[in-house]
Amino acid sequence: MNSAKNAPPPAKLTAPMGLKHRNTLGLDCMAESAYEITASDQLPSLIRTLEEQKRTWRVLGGGSNVILPKQLDGATLLMNISGQEIIHADEKNTLLAVGAGVNWHELVAWTLEQDLPGLENLALIPGTVGAAPIQNIGAYGVEVGQYIDHIEAFDSVAQAFVTLSQEACQFAYRDSYLKQHPTRFIVTKVVFQIPKAWQARIHYADLAKYFADQESKLNAEQIFTAVCKIRMQKLPDPKVIGNAGSFFHNPVVAQEQHAALIAQFPDLVSYADAMGKRKLAAGWLIDQCGFKGKQIGPVGVYEKQALVLVNHGGASAADILELASLIQYQVKEKFGVQLTIEPSIL
Ligand SMILES: Cc1cc2nc3c(=O)[nH]c(=O)nc-3n(C[C@H](O)[C@H](O)[C@H](O)COP(=O)(O)OP(=O)(O)OC[C@H]3O[C@@H](n4cnc5c(N)ncnc54)[C@H](O)[C@@H]3O)c2cc1C
Repeated sequence: MNSAKNAPPPAKLTAPMGLKHRNTLGLDCMAESAYEITASDQLPSLIRTLEEQKRTWRVLGGGSNVILPKQLDGATLLMNISGQEIIHADEKNTLLAVGAGVNWHELVAWTLEQDLPGLENLALIPGTVGAAPIQNIGAYGVEVGQYIDHIEAFDSVAQAFVTLSQEACQFAYRDSYLKQHPTRFIVTKVVFQIPKAWQARIHYADLAKYFADQESKLNAEQIFTAVCKIRMQKLPDPKVIGNAGSFFHNPVVAQEQHAALIAQFPDLVSYADAMGKRKLAAGWLIDQCGFKGKQIGPVGVYEKQALVLVNHGGASAADILELASLIQYQVKEKFGVQLTIEPSIL
């Protein structure tokens, strides 16, 4: 327990606070009150008080995977805990403790500067370190869960700090135990385990193509640069056009359903799934329904990647969700497959 002398200052309160610049879709949103969380010790008394006052609350990281309403009632906890340090190193692994508010991409770049390769395939994913385990962020054949040793979080049900091992987090495709229990856990720190042994992973089509003519041995910096270049070409920059990255999960179907679909749609794009099922490319399904590049009012489907919905300016959550449900309906009609929305609807 901290003595009063060492206790952190209480979380800074701003009421109300506009969140347009803290969500990558660029939706206009007014939070009734926002608390800036800069130290984990601020949480117990704050959560106790909010619950005593029967006020709703939620955590916001970088806002790159959320759909915000015009008005967010109650308290919004802005996760700004900083700090990153190597806490252990032996001949096999390095353990890295990182505050939940650290920017994800900056962490990936920093690990390479420290000669700790492993996270390079996950470069340029927006958002914070604390949100990364929530949906087990992944890209180019790598998921963050495989590098997480454990997580430190405030459990709002137990009203206590807890440590969740990698196993307890139950990481799966864009999913985790934390995601299954929204608003129960506030992630304050993530401890990564980076193995000393390193291997390039360039089996995903875009990366394999990028390095097709490469004859010498690759290093992690080259993969980091390639991932950044490919992402900048394919995905819209939220600073230029509002978006939340992939808007739908790639649906996972049984082999039998996949076989039936292939018989009807021979060009169907799909990938093998770790559980022996097939993961369908949701972007391809949406494209086949004619949505790529379409604009409906202030929202649309990105012209280079049908999986990304964009805010052309002035859109609301309702506009985005209306387009999303039209896409879901047409994909279901054509392919018999249900698309699930990826961002959290707050
Ligand atoms: C252009 C673009 C590209 C993207 N590419 C990818 C990609 O390749 N792969 C991928 O997996 N994702 C991708 N995303 C989605 C997004 O970047 C990730 O999901 C990211 O981890 C979200 O981080 P955030 O800090 O912005 O979270 P937020 O959007 O702020 O929050 C997301 C959810 O996590 C909760 N949350 C946030 N922080 C905490 C915390 N500390 N404790 C508890 N709950 C918390 C929030 O309440 C919310 O439910 C992309 C998004 C964009 C805009």
